[in-house]
Amino acid sequence: MAYDSNNIFARILRGEIPCDKVYEDSHVLAFRDIRPHAKVHVLLIPKGPYVSLEDFSARASEAEIVAFHRAIPKITAELGVAVTGYRAIANSGADSHQEVPHYHLHLLGGQRLGPLLS
Ligand code: C5P
Repeated sequence: MAYDSNNIFARILRGEIPCDKVYEDSHVLAFRDIRPHAKVHVLLIPKGPYVSLEDFSARASEAEIVAFHRAIPKITAELGVAVTGYRAIANSGADSHQEVPHYHLHLLGGQRLGPLLS
């Protein structure tokens, strides 16, 4: 699937739409989900134009992939869930119900979560 540069996260990255930012560096942005599914629900996105986890894993540079994952412990420490625990989910493609075609990792926590596939 070709990257749609007008998707909502691309617009957030360009500053056209506001977000509740929790972390940013040269490669990534993290912000609170507008429809949270847990007390803590943050989305981590790369700044590059990647449609999905599949696309990011195939095309992103090693620097982007490292930066993306190195951001996670900084964000979870900031959110206070590094010790208590959290869940990371990436919907990728139609069967997963991915809504926004810009790769994003959901970080969910701040409470005891239910089983993954309930
Ligand atoms: O993984 P999926 O694509 O289904 O998730 C997209 C997420 O982006 C949803 O949880 C939705 O609430 C969130 N969203 C957001 N801010 C927007 C648009 C969508 O946090 N402006």
